[in-house]
Amino acid sequence: MTVPQIELNDGNSIPQLGFGVFKVDPEETERIVTDALEVGYRHLDTAMIYGNEVGVGNAIKALGIPRNELFITTKLWNSDQGTDSARDAMDLSLEKLGLEYVDLYLIHWPRPDLDLYLETWLAMEKLKAEGKTRSIGVSNFHRPHLDKIIAGSSTVPAVDQIELHPAFAQRDLRSYGAELGMHIEAWGPLGQGKYDLFSEAALQSAAETHGVSPAQVAIRWHLQSGIIVFPKSNSRERMAENFDVFGFELSADEMASIDAIDRGQRVGTNPDEATF
Ligand code: NAD
Repeated sequence: MTVPQIELNDGNSIPQLGFGVFKVDPEETERIVTDALEVGYRHLDTAMIYGNEVGVGNAIKALGIPRNELFITTKLWNSDQGTDSARDAMDLSLEKLGLEYVDLYLIHWPRPDLDLYLETWLAMEKLKAEGKTRSIGVSNFHRPHLDKIIAGSSTVPAVDQIELHPAFAQRDLRSYGAELGMHIEAWGPLGQGKYDLFSEAALQSAAETHGVSPAQVAIRWHLQSGIIVFPKSNSRERMAENFDVFGFELSADEMASIDAIDRGQRVGTNPDEATF
């Protein structure tokens, strides 16, 4: 199974399908990430705040997969925004992961109330120049936050990682991303199990047609929409199911009926209102 590579605006490439580890228990992370790597995932998405970077790093080390075959993302937490703290946070993440560099470093949330994200972005540009991260991007940024860092720096983020699933399809940010040459990554691609995505008629009907599960249809919808996606599961069986999405293709009609599920339904926090 070959996962498509997407070229980012800085010339680096990212596997379009990866594995996320939000809420993966630090004690279990090494086992779960080992399973994911054995299943075939090469793109891992973690964050300082998940508390499981050590487990991710241990799994990477134990399997001995060549570093250049892996794509590792981590994220700078809100309390680490600012010039000096961004540098310290990057160094600590690298130490925990046991890596010399990450492939992608993201500002986790804009936290506009702190008004530090532009300063943080300028620090991230330096971290990239020093080779501590190959690419830099943001997460949970809305258009005004993107505009501010683009106007105040010389780098358009490589990606914006945002909540995105069929009931919350983020059309505006997706088209703005396309205008900017910035790729969109989906978090919560399966709705985090917080609404009954898998019972939606459009998913059920496509699943039946192609002899796959509604989860596979949801992942395929992201892929065919050009979105970078990394569903999470603690179960090896589901990891394998979520990775097995290259043997079928949704028709234009099936894509349109999944597009029609969009009802602006968030399952997470609105970034403009985040206070954590
Ligand atoms: P998700 O949408 O991937 O949903 C995970 C849930 O779906 C789990 O409860 C799992 O049991 C279930 N599931 C997985 N595969 C399934 C299958 N085949 N059949 C049935 N159920 C299945 O939610 P997520 O983990 O929040 O999002 C994916 C990743 O995005 C995270 O792990 C993390 O890396 C990232 N993320 C980032 C942010 C951010 O603020 N940047 C926020 C949340 C998540």
